[in-house]
Amino acid sequence: MQTDFSVDYRAECGRCLHCAKPHCALSCPIGNAIPQILRLAGNGGEQTAVQLVGHPFGEICGYVCPRDRFCQGGCVLSKRGGIAIGSVEKEIFARYPYKVARAGNAAEGRRVAVVGGGASGLTFAVKMYEQNASVTVYEPNGLLSTLKLIPDFRLPAQALSRVEAQLKGVFQLVEKRVLREDIPLLCSQYDAVYLATGATRPYGLDIDGEENATPYAVFLSKTRHCSLLGKHVTVVGGGNTAMDCARLAVRSGAKATVLYRRQRADMPAFVGEISAAEEEGVQFVFNVVPVLLQRDGRLKLTLAKTYSEGRGKLTVTDSVYHVDCDVVVAAAGASADKDLVALAEKSGVYTGGDVKGGKTVAEAVADGLRAAKALTEKFAKKVK
Ligand code: SF4
Repeated sequence: MQTDFSVDYRAECGRCLHCAKPHCALSCPIGNAIPQILRLAGNGGEQTAVQLVGHPFGEICGYVCPRDRFCQGGCVLSKRGGIAIGSVEKEIFARYPYKVARAGNAAEGRRVAVVGGGASGLTFAVKMYEQNASVTVYEPNGLLSTLKLIPDFRLPAQALSRVEAQLKGVFQLVEKRVLREDIPLLCSQYDAVYLATGATRPYGLDIDGEENATPYAVFLSKTRHCSLLGKHVTVVGGGNTAMDCARLAVRSGAKATVLYRRQRADMPAFVGEISAAEEEGVQFVFNVVPVLLQRDGRLKLTLAKTYSEGRGKLTVTDSVYHVDCDVVVAAAGASADKDLVALAEKSGVYTGGDVKGGKTVAEAVADGLRAAKALTEKFAKKVK
């Protein structure tokens, strides 16, 4: 098994001071009981530590969380190197995967629908299964499909396989897209519905010649199987997905340039992801937006310079220039289906993950845990 630690990870756990006020836990969107988890993991209680985390996504969080902003950033030792909490989490979940098992009866006899097979929906599904509910997950694109787009160098496929292996028998999967008109029917058929469909609508470049650009999902899924040796890939966007595309391009042999409309400090990508891209040779150009994309043999991208005030006002100037490249990747983010979410919330459906604005796996998981806790309490009250 590939591991993070060349030394015993238990030694890392042993460095924890077990603070009375654990800033690590206070900085974790999930509120993980980190001192207790480290104490258990450091003393041979890894499986108990994993179960205390309370969901199957600990290893995934270990890989993709912005740890400098969350647990590790909050740790009182962060200025002295900190404790590698994320790495401990990766290690213990890889060795002792979370075991999903019936643990209560609050939802016995209840039917629960989950719309969306991402981290948030599946966390909710697991917690309701543990309360003895009958759970159905509606997902047309395969489980964890968004996480599966993240390249292997950032999130190994085995980590996702380990999560999927723990979900066998937990729910019935219906490979169907739930539309707005389906919401009333779902609400009538189930005792509760949780909507966590994620950000399903990618932003385009919104320029003439857009059809010549490659959507990020297509680029990420196809490029890992081909060589781009000698090509020039231009990535439009400043988030983690843009960094993934650029790094993947470089690793596939291309020269990669990221174009971002604001300044470096305004990029939504995690600091560590930006640094990793830079270290791998990705070039960055700030304060530019694409205005035209033409194909004439190669691609010719026309860029306009911008003036930005932080993440506020953005002014596109008349100053334009052209760049030639072989691939232009549209990686400017995505949004949720706001009409679907609004109707769901009006109908009393629980919502979470990207549809609530959360941008990280930890926040998505936290939403799933919160909704499951609220529903469990509601069911428990009705039983009394
Ligand atoms: S803040 Fe750091 S030292 Fe304190 S309990 Fe959390 S991990 Fe341990």
